[in-house]
Amino acid sequence: MTAQTVAELDKLIPPNDDPRVLMHSCCAPCAGDLMERMIADGIDLTIFFYNPNIHPRKEYRIRKDENIRFAEKLGIPFVDGDYDVQNWFARAKGMEHEPERGKRCTACFDMRFERTALYAHEHGFSNITSSLGISRWKNMEQINGCGELAASHYDGITYWTYNWRKGGGANRMYEIAKRESFYQQEYCGCIFSLRDTNDWRKQNGREEIEIGEKFYEEKIK
Ligand code: SF4
Repeated sequence: MTAQTVAELDKLIPPNDDPRVLMHSCCAPCAGDLMERMIADGIDLTIFFYNPNIHPRKEYRIRKDENIRFAEKLGIPFVDGDYDVQNWFARAKGMEHEPERGKRCTACFDMRFERTALYAHEHGFSNITSSLGISRWKNMEQINGCGELAASHYDGITYWTYNWRKGGGANRMYEIAKRESFYQQEYCGCIFSLRDTNDWRKQNGREEIEIGEKFYEEKIK
């Protein structure tokens, strides 16, 4: 499917008659299209980066720095959440061998969205959303359910369940990643997804992932 351009898409209208949106971002490639679309439609966007699930720290730093670089380019405020990995490992305990999209991922989304909703509550945002759902690898219903649950803990906060894949969002996401030469992460993020992806690679005769090595293509000209 050919992706529509941002100008061809319907104008985004956040809930609550409020142009302010706090967007949980997982990484620059997933967030890129949401960032460009919201800015183009006049949304007062703030990015909230809280992803202590990402392992190792080197990978975390690269993903975060890429997101900061693009936020600065677009003039979007960037809130840098904690890297409290002990919190994530406590949440994931007993679910080390769950498959992707399983119970561990629900706990992982819950953790990240609870912190996003708390920040929204403390800073007067009525709308939160996330870049996590744009990826075809993720279960959007699972993500929306976790987002709505986190928002429900506070009066007046809505998790915006907009379908960011609509109109070719996933394709635009790759186009932006190539145009901006973003770092290309090769696994979801946690130590268990790194282990499972490397196991799969070994079984399929491929090299293990090298952290910090791969970037989207257009960089090499
Ligand atoms: S696979 Fe991804 S979503 Fe699932 S627990 Fe690991 S980092 Fe979180």
